[in-house]
Amino acid sequence: MGYKKPSFIENIAEKIGLIPNLHKEKYQEFDGDMRQFTDEEVAQMYENFPPPEKWDNWVEYDPKAWPKKVKKTYQIVPTTCFNCESACGLTAFIDKETQVVKKFEGNPQHPGSRGRNCAKGPATINQITDPDRILFPLKRKGKRGEGEWDRITWDEALDTIAARIRKAIKEDRHNEIAYHVGRPGHEKFMNWILQGWGIDGHNSHTNICSSGARFGYNLWYGYDRPSPDHSNAKFILLISAHLESGHYFNPHAQRIIEGKMKGAKLATMDPRLSNTASMSDYWMPTYPGSEAAVLLAMALIILEEGLYNRAYLENWTNWQEYLKALHSDKEVIFENYIAAMIEEYQEFTPEYAEKESGVKAETVVEIARLIGEAGERFASHNWRAAGASNLGGWGVARCLHFLTVLTGAVGAKGGTSPNSWNKFSPTVPNPPKPQKKWNEMHFPKEYPLAFFEMSQLLPHFLKEGRGKMDVYFSRVFNPVWTYPDGFTWMEMFQDESKFGLHAALTPTWNETAFFADFVLPMGLASERHDINSYATHGGTWVAFRQPVLREAARRNGKDVEFTYETNPGEVWEEDEFWIELSWRIDPDGSMGIRKHFESPNRPGEKIKIGEYYQYIFERVPGLPKTAKKEGLTELEYMQKYGTFEIEKGESYKKNETLLTKEELEGSVIDPINEVIRKSGKDIGVMINGKAMLGFPTPSRKNEFYSQTMVDWKWPEYAIPKYLKSHIHNDNLDKSKGEYVLVPTFRLPTLIHSRSGNAKWLVEISNRNPIWMHPEDAAKWGFKTGDLVKMNTDIGYFIDKVWVTQGMKPGVVACSHHIGRWRRPQDKTGNRWATNTVNIEGDGKGGWKMNTISGIKPFESDDKDSKRIFWKDGGVHQNITHAVHPDPISGMHCWHQRVRIEKPAAGENYGDIFVDTNKSHEIYKEWMAMTRPAPGPNGERRPLWFKRAFTPDISTYYMDKKEE
Ligand code: SF4
Repeated sequence: MGYKKPSFIENIAEKIGLIPNLHKEKYQEFDGDMRQFTDEEVAQMYENFPPPEKWDNWVEYDPKAWPKKVKKTYQIVPTTCFNCESACGLTAFIDKETQVVKKFEGNPQHPGSRGRNCAKGPATINQITDPDRILFPLKRKGKRGEGEWDRITWDEALDTIAARIRKAIKEDRHNEIAYHVGRPGHEKFMNWILQGWGIDGHNSHTNICSSGARFGYNLWYGYDRPSPDHSNAKFILLISAHLESGHYFNPHAQRIIEGKMKGAKLATMDPRLSNTASMSDYWMPTYPGSEAAVLLAMALIILEEGLYNRAYLENWTNWQEYLKALHSDKEVIFENYIAAMIEEYQEFTPEYAEKESGVKAETVVEIARLIGEAGERFASHNWRAAGASNLGGWGVARCLHFLTVLTGAVGAKGGTSPNSWNKFSPTVPNPPKPQKKWNEMHFPKEYPLAFFEMSQLLPHFLKEGRGKMDVYFSRVFNPVWTYPDGFTWMEMFQDESKFGLHAALTPTWNETAFFADFVLPMGLASERHDINSYATHGGTWVAFRQPVLREAARRNGKDVEFTYETNPGEVWEEDEFWIELSWRIDPDGSMGIRKHFESPNRPGEKIKIGEYYQYIFERVPGLPKTAKKEGLTELEYMQKYGTFEIEKGESYKKNETLLTKEELEGSVIDPINEVIRKSGKDIGVMINGKAMLGFPTPSRKNEFYSQTMVDWKWPEYAIPKYLKSHIHNDNLDKSKGEYVLVPTFRLPTLIHSRSGNAKWLVEISNRNPIWMHPEDAAKWGFKTGDLVKMNTDIGYFIDKVWVTQGMKPGVVACSHHIGRWRRPQDKTGNRWATNTVNIEGDGKGGWKMNTISGIKPFESDDKDSKRIFWKDGGVHQNITHAVHPDPISGMHCWHQRVRIEKPAAGENYGDIFVDTNKSHEIYKEWMAMTRPAPGPNGERRPLWFKRAFTPDISTYYMDKKEE
């Protein structure tokens, strides 16, 4: 918005104070051309944001009293948003008189978000004031899933769960205890807890989220995520709607736009005209799954036209190993490397890319040249999107990184760095050793390369009797709704021989919590402790999520022992819960668990939450010195500002870090690949006679050629390849009405299944129709609003059509956010967003769901609940999807083959049917594609492949009877 001269009326109104003066000189400066300013200067322009020295006593006029000028005094306490993984800074404005949080704004001190938030940040106020929130611990009565609950004390919950865990550990049933996390953001905390118990009990949602792309990146350079330096880039390529809704999207979005304002060009691959595509210089509506073909065509152009970075390829890829392994007839000289690559990818002409993707050949050529010209300043991102949706989706990230390698942009200014270079990792007190257990329920031998736990298959493993979950925690995790095949989850949850005890840790009711034994209310962004550090740009920061009322109480001189004392009801925070639970599992310390959770300062006593964070913050580089300057402890500094910038943003090319004399002492150099080894570990690589750190791969370089893929029985994928997806056109029968459904796209205003308690967000987005191009709609005679039956491999759902030019012809799409439900017997929750549904099973695997009523206004303390005008809660599509585990990466391949038809008479909007027998058959079909462990030397997983909670290295080997 530019500066507008005030009108005559505005001038008078401002002068007499009827409206605030928005036309002061400084506002003109602020609204000027921002391109001339640096990041720091832009951040400083938040001159109308309260400066931190005034945060304890900030005065604003009460907007509700307008036009009267009624002053309100606030305490402002920083925290971190919990509504996506970006962890943007928030500040809570707490009414000093009432100690009630009145609103949330951004935190300009936060180096990642720099004061800016998306709609979901300020909507935290809706979540903490939601009339349907769970305020006390609950225990089910009656059968699981019947909907009857008793309020209990925290003591009862803790003692019951602790006793069951204690028994399982003492009986050596460690693998029957699992913690399954939906939304993370608990840096190293749960490693501390679960490894402290000695269990291999971590399960995550990553295999339905991002593990495909992670696998592709990891194969190349041992890091599993990209950190693009958008604001310094010359060319940005996004494979997704990243600008509006991807990973770290608000912090990235700001920097993408900054990059554009400085002249960068932006290209987006997406079959849907997303907001991101609409902001791009080039929209490439690729056919789903064809992205790698386009990327390889671009790679070929860069190679053939000599646009590659020769020095980078020569020094930092394992080309000699490639030539020796796959072209042993050729001399090992660099020219032969380039020639061999050109030969490998001959098939990938621009015309072939056009045939596969539908993107014009000349566009492919034009963009390839722009990428080549951008050189090191080529930033790119592929997180979920194509990587998370296709059989072989990991190949998309691998081919994308190929371009980053060809241009030498890996870790360069304006290029794409590994995520870990821009991330702080905390050191916890009394750290436990890695667990000496390997849990086959999470990492089964069929998936030795799976990048994360095979969580989507857990109900099928239970169904076929591979094991049980005696104590199972779902933490901000809602697989019944979010995962494919939710009815199989429901069947297993209702069987107490499969899930012995299910405790749902959640801030809000969800479809999975309905099938728990304990529902334990956990704090939202402003009600809990946590630390975050994410790769939002070429710098490193740490942020502190804290319970703001507890911090306000501390500033006001009140002692608080547990966070639930200041939270609403008895909503607790997880940190204190887990410490308390760990202590109760091992009350006398005889199991060796308790010692990890003792105070570092008071031997033998339980650690307090402040001690835990002080211990971590003391070890943040630079923080002790900065805090001392203000006369604060490290913890007090973080409580005051909520964030600390560890490094400003010159962390480029870290692979070139020279090893020190001390590091090199006692090391040896491998005569073949010049990898430097010390005490059995690879520590670096010789580059042009210099000892450098390199990358954490076997060659310490980017691995164009992967011996790992060869060793683990996938030699056909030794180098980057285009894998045809399960929904490739060859696999669809168009004559039967088969189409590809893109079911993954996010709406920028919603949060998977966690925004049903945020009225502002649901008001903005509350339907998930099928996006359909006019040509496709005409074929069936559909108009916007018509009902459509979407037949999947295991059932169907009935949705409405939205006819739009924004969809690629031949492809349909449906946002995965909407279609939340509750049954009549369930506790009322998320009424802003949930349909009331009826669910019936035939006892033979057939399940029907139909909508009894949509969203309705309701009576509550929030007057807005009577003003609900939207009725349509959308349709739950994921539950009609079968599991599609990629046989290599383990990623669930989200795209669906669907048969589109008009519903029959009597079939209604929201009707769903699923046959879980069919879903189990499809599970078996996909399992049959795997190539199980062991790999070389009896390994169950490559030794250089980390895991989220990496166990002891001894567990990486299978014993003879397992093989
Ligand atoms: S991008 Fe939005 S939802 Fe995500 S952390 Fe930032 S403000 Fe919160």
